[in-house]
Amino acid sequence: MTVTLGTPLTPTATRALLLGAGELGKEVAIELTRLGVEVIAVDRYPDAPAMQVAHRAHVIDMLDPEALRTLLAAERPHLVIPEIEAIATAVLAEVEEAGLATVIPTARATILTMDREGIRRLAAEELGLPTSPYRFVDTRDGLAAAVAELGTPCVVKPVMSSSGKGQSVVRSEADVDAAWTYAVEGGRAGGTRVIVEGFVDFDYEITQLTVRHAGGVTFLDPVGHTQVDGDYRESWQPQPMSDAALAESRRIAGAVTEALGGQGVFGVELFVRGDEVLFSEVSPRPHDTGLVTLASQDLSEFALHARAVLGLPVPGVLSLGPAASCAVLATGAGVPVFSGVDDALAGTGVDVRLFGKPRVEGSRRVAVTVARGATVDEARAAAREAAAALRIELVENPSAV
Ligand code: AMP
Repeated sequence: MTVTLGTPLTPTATRALLLGAGELGKEVAIELTRLGVEVIAVDRYPDAPAMQVAHRAHVIDMLDPEALRTLLAAERPHLVIPEIEAIATAVLAEVEEAGLATVIPTARATILTMDREGIRRLAAEELGLPTSPYRFVDTRDGLAAAVAELGTPCVVKPVMSSSGKGQSVVRSEADVDAAWTYAVEGGRAGGTRVIVEGFVDFDYEITQLTVRHAGGVTFLDPVGHTQVDGDYRESWQPQPMSDAALAESRRIAGAVTEALGGQGVFGVELFVRGDEVLFSEVSPRPHDTGLVTLASQDLSEFALHARAVLGLPVPGVLSLGPAASCAVLATGAGVPVFSGVDDALAGTGVDVRLFGKPRVEGSRRVAVTVARGATVDEARAAAREAAAALRIELVENPSAV
């Protein structure tokens, strides 16, 4: 099949609409524009990172079906590329059904992964993949009963949440009330449904980035990572693994991405204990831990996503050697102003992405450093050092700097 790509801002344009315009969407937008795609970035707030590199931007409530329907009818994109889960996914199903646009990777995948229940039941109950033991509950008493059944420690998470919001570990029955309140407050869309999972005492966790493209399926080298309160802080590639654990990771990633279907990058999150691998969850899009691929590969996960969604081939991926990424968080309120960027960039093989988030309120990831090294440990040290060199001031009511 021949892929035809038009010219942006003309009637021939290939139009891609990004639902969610954060730092991952920004990299996808850059890669798509490199291939001459017209990019429309959408988010719930103005001046989001991907909006700053897109041809056009819209601010809507993406959970509002009518707002989303109206926008899609006006923009008539060829591709709809979600970057987040919080979307009125029923509208994506309508659009796909009517043949109006290709939903990446598929409308069904966006529906199944928009809450933890859909994807957990698919993986564990339909596909028979190994996972931690789990229960879904809707009440505080239900939570107490599930904790008693599963035993402690266990992990409580709202079914609709990301980046660790509302997630906590229950170490004894005394923690149940606090875990319930925290989960209900941290969930999206005011839901009270939570998943309780047995705590997995893993040796390490990985993201198995998996690319489904016109030529088949490509598994990238495993990405190891650390999390704090359910939020990614550092990642590196490749994570050393036994042959058996790597093969099992790819079996699980292959099965779950095949079931979700479509084309694009998937981030399959797995817990590894010895040769045993448990499925945790999957993003049907580039993954934040995969930011390391900006340094570790000739084609980053974002470049691969762009290629795959456009139906272009991915004959292979060239590894550039061990690499690492380190997330940079800012805490407080105001507009981020960065200094020490020169110090951060002082090392060979080190790079920085400043996301351009218009404002911080609370704690937000505002930048990432990536670094190459002779070994993973060297790369991690270099990425951490670069991150430590960055200083962020949050400015209220800024005037020109
Ligand atoms: P999630 O939002 O489900 O990806 O969880 C975020 C992080 O919390 C994971 O990457 C793990 O580090 C940790 N975590 C989540 N679930 C469990 C579990 N059942 N056992 C141990 N750690 C977990």
